[in-house]
Amino acid sequence: MCSIIGILSKDIVAPALVDSLKRMEYRGYDSVGIATLSTDNRISVRKGVGKVGQVNSLLNLAGMEGFVGIGHTRWATHGGVTEYNAHPHPCCNNNIAVVHNGIIENYLPLKEELVKKGHIFRSETDTEVIAHLLEEYYNIGRDIKHAMMETVNHLEGSYAFVAMFANGTLSCARLDEPLIIGISDNTYYASSDVLGFLQYTDQAIFLDNRDMAIIDRAGGVSIVNFSGEPVTRSITKVAWELADANKGEFAHYTIKEIFEQRTSVKAATYQDEHKIRAFCDSIVSASNILVTGSGSSYHTSLIVSMMGSRLLKKRFEPVMASEFQYNMDSIEKNTVILAISQSGETADVLSATKLAREAGAKILSIVNVQTSSLARTADVSLSIKSGPEIGVAATKSFTGQMSLAYAILDRISGGKIGFDREVISDKISKMLAQQESIERLVNITMPKVNDIYLLGRSIHFPIALEGALKMKELAYVHAEGIAAGELKHGPLALMDKNAVVFVLNPDDRTYSDMLSSAHQVKARGAKIIGISNVPNDIYDAMIEIPKIDNDLLYPLVEIIPLQLFSYYLALQNNANPDFPRNLAKSVTVR
Ligand code: GLU
Repeated sequence: MCSIIGILSKDIVAPALVDSLKRMEYRGYDSVGIATLSTDNRISVRKGVGKVGQVNSLLNLAGMEGFVGIGHTRWATHGGVTEYNAHPHPCCNNNIAVVHNGIIENYLPLKEELVKKGHIFRSETDTEVIAHLLEEYYNIGRDIKHAMMETVNHLEGSYAFVAMFANGTLSCARLDEPLIIGISDNTYYASSDVLGFLQYTDQAIFLDNRDMAIIDRAGGVSIVNFSGEPVTRSITKVAWELADANKGEFAHYTIKEIFEQRTSVKAATYQDEHKIRAFCDSIVSASNILVTGSGSSYHTSLIVSMMGSRLLKKRFEPVMASEFQYNMDSIEKNTVILAISQSGETADVLSATKLAREAGAKILSIVNVQTSSLARTADVSLSIKSGPEIGVAATKSFTGQMSLAYAILDRISGGKIGFDREVISDKISKMLAQQESIERLVNITMPKVNDIYLLGRSIHFPIALEGALKMKELAYVHAEGIAAGELKHGPLALMDKNAVVFVLNPDDRTYSDMLSSAHQVKARGAKIIGISNVPNDIYDAMIEIPKIDNDLLYPLVEIIPLQLFSYYLALQNNANPDFPRNLAKSVTVR
């Protein structure tokens, strides 16, 4: 995720480009760049690694000349965080430059073809193929609309991009990434978010998927679909509540981020081949592996450990980061620590890895923020590339971590999981489509309920813990995740008609034992919500999950209704789901 902006104006555009990028920086910020068109029709590019303010003070982005320009803040998916991978990317003869948000999935074959035709690439990004494809087709007839149509019809993946041509035209297109046109008296904007122009105008055109727009001084904005047919999109007046605008169509960041999981589970699995090989090799050659994290990342650690031991027949031990210092006895020279953290700044995790390194262990990390302390100090670090997660409670970072972990374990085990990112993304979309029925379920079942229990066995147990954590954090309701077999050893004493019990019960090898547990709590009068792909009369309500071929993959799907349930429960309890009381996003204290 990142932000893109293009501006065509009667005024100098660079200061507005920098201002817009700053306002959209929440979307991604590992590097920044701007290209403008000077009055002699030359495209100049300035770009660098860092946040907008830092790169601007080093390179004076805001001081660039020109009345047309494009800008970008990057959250790298393909190619390291370097100056040459930062956007904008020019084509060979520098008469087109491109900024892009998203992933071009077929960039490798496209790149090979373009290289054969003589194009010279200067970055490792997937984005650069767009600039060269446009150049290839623009050179044929100097027709921008034709070049855009040919280009978008060759691209696979998800993208929004803006291209600037040396004749002063901006063109842009979108597929599954946002792109909005802003219009004021003398200026046009093409932006990832209304925040990119709302400080200048409230008149906006929201492009649909498979729309492209061509913006020039003579014709203003013309919008066509990917087949080149004109389409009409009305101008919308955008509300001026700046603070809310970057939530897009959503009421809160949390629900926006829950929905982003459709794409973030995929983004997590695109990794640099060299790095992921080094990561996997370290796991394979380790004698034992300690997996550590805090909060939701600890729940990922539990799942990784269960699956790792089962698939690789190797000792994986989950350890809470805050408990790590007391559990270091099994560390030896050939031990690997797999540290998991969204921010990469969690103090407990950093302290655990420091102690482990001193004891001779090798450190692997999975983070979201690639420039974080944990990423920098690990021997090998992989990023889940979820984009900034603003809601304090982890949602997309949790499934991003799991998705990457599945991809890694699948690779090492020779495909024993059968992990397919498209299939998982599709199943997650199916769960998200139940948003309204889950909201209704909250309204029906939850008034006056003080205690929620979540039962799971095997790999569903960490999801029971994670679901309970969401309910506590977001909705301030007492919730407990319980390994269902433990009920009879104590928690059964708590069950009565006032309890609501979720049972995680897909039809895998835990199914019938789980049903027995459900009967035990039902007999004490508790209300039961089944999360399953098989209906059963014992459930007072059921949230249906899709069938998945390999049952190891259920956790990625069954957490989604629990996130949605917690979100709506927070709203019902008048809690602000984005910023739970007493908590902070990045816990940099121990
Ligand atoms: N895939 C592109 C890159 O890695 C764009 C990433 C983004 O959306 O920032 O450069």
